[in-house]
Amino acid sequence: MRAVIVEEFGSPSQLVLREVDAPVPGAGEVKIRLDVSGVNYMDVYMRNGAYAKSSTYKTPLPMVLGMEGGGTVVELGEGVKGLQIGDRVAYCLSRGSYAEYAVVPEWRAVRIPDAVSIPVATAAMLQGLTAHYLTHSIFPLKAGDWCLIHAGAGGVGQMAIQMAKMVGARVITTVGSPEKESIARTCGADHVIPYEDLDFREEVMRITEGRGVDVVYDSVGKDTIERSIHSVRRRGLCVMFGASSGQVPSITPLSLAEAGSVYFTRPHLADYIADADELNGRAQSIFESIAAEKLRVPIFRTYPLEEAREAHITIESRGTRGKMLLQVRD
Ligand code: NDP
Repeated sequence: MRAVIVEEFGSPSQLVLREVDAPVPGAGEVKIRLDVSGVNYMDVYMRNGAYAKSSTYKTPLPMVLGMEGGGTVVELGEGVKGLQIGDRVAYCLSRGSYAEYAVVPEWRAVRIPDAVSIPVATAAMLQGLTAHYLTHSIFPLKAGDWCLIHAGAGGVGQMAIQMAKMVGARVITTVGSPEKESIARTCGADHVIPYEDLDFREEVMRITEGRGVDVVYDSVGKDTIERSIHSVRRRGLCVMFGASSGQVPSITPLSLAEAGSVYFTRPHLADYIADADELNGRAQSIFESIAAEKLRVPIFRTYPLEEAREAHITIESRGTRGKMLLQVRD
């Protein structure tokens, strides 16, 4: 099969298309013929070596990149009972999706309802599930809550804004360009801050009349985290869930106290889709919102599999405005 491989950590030029053996499903696994593969920021960390020492996302080389896909079940491993050949499924957090076939633990493959297409379901997995656990579990937003969502025109950002608005929260978001401002507003953001031009913390304090937000969802990391912590209200929550601008080496406990006894967490999606029930509960809730046209999945661009490098250049240069997919099969 055709697959995009990383042989050495480094820049997007390390992504190479190769012919490799298709994987074989073991016990409890299914083989999926992929239509599309999702491109995520974590693929960048896996490609450039940032996750080389991660115990959660080990990256042994060479590896087929990609942690998200959608397609049709074509083979069942021993003991698989919940899925059948021909089922349309989507999944995330199982490696090897930049390829024509992937083998995935049965419990990670979510059956896609008829009302949702395979590309849309796939695009809603990693980023949609993340937006869901941020807004529903880490800090379950409710009507009237104030939240700050960074990178509001991004993949997670656009879905998080929509989910926050669905429950009636008040959303402040940040964006890196004027074009992204209108995207964030279309998703429903109440206030959009161009954080390259304005100090977002000062803006948050102005908008909330000095109180601060109940929760900040920060995926930008190095460039924003200190000011994010100081944008939160007394005893509010700062969630740092990504590091698009660079890793944050440490947070000083006293800085949390001085910001107003702020709580701080650094979550992984894996812990919020920890078993089949939790994964399916979130996924079905997302699929229902899509089918009811309450949630729009922002597919920004679809590249052919062999152009994975272009997709990586685009995501790293802040060029995305939503989800990027790789088309594996027509
Ligand atoms: P995005 O589409 O949000 O792309 C990243 C965005 O970050 C850019 O578009 C840009 O938006 C912003 N950004 C700010 N500074 C930089 C910089 N120096 N370089 C690059 N981008 C920058 O990506 P995703 O939606 O795929 O992911 C968002 C974040 O969420 C990532 O950090 C990812 O790792 C994290 N994540 C975490 C998960 C978890 O469970 N912990 C799960 C899924 C994703 P702008 O130009 O508007 O500033």
